Amino acid sequence: MVAASRVDRLCDLRAIFDDLNVRYFGNKIDAAITWGQRTGRPRRRNSIKMGSYSVEDRLIRIHRSLDRAFVPRFFVAWIVFHEMLHQVHDIRVKNGRREFHSKAFLADEACFELYDQAKVWERSHLDALLTY
Ligand SMILES: [Zn+2]
Repeated sequence: MVAASRVDRLCDLRAIFDDLNVRYFGNKIDAAITWGQRTGRPRRRNSIKMGSYSVEDRLIRIHRSLDRAFVPRFFVAWIVFHEMLHQVHDIRVKNGRREFHSKAFLADEACFELYDQAKVWERSHLDALLTY
C-alpha cells in the first residue's frame, strides 16, 4: 500500500505540472518532475530548498517536505510554477554574478493566480515546512 500511495503522489506532481503548463506556458515547458530524496528523522532546519531546476537534465525536483498532508496542492503548484519559470528565463550574468531571479522573472512569478495566498501560507507554515 505504501508503494501505491507513493505512485499516486508522483502522478499528482505530474498532474500539477501539466495543468500549469497548459494554463500559463502554452504547453511549451519540456521537463521531467520528481520528488527529492527522503531523509531520516525529522529535525528543525534553518532553511530548505523547496524546489530546484536542473538546466542540464531538464529536471524539476520538489522537496519531500512538501509531500505531506498539511501542504495544500496550491502551495506545491506555486513551487512547481517557480521552477518551470527557470526554463523560460535564462540565467544572466550581472555584475559578475549569476542572476537567477531577474526583474522579468519576478514579474512573471507574480502572475501566479494564488501568489498572495502562497506567500501568506508559506509565512504561517514555515516552522512546519522547515521541520522535516
Ligand atoms: Zn528560483
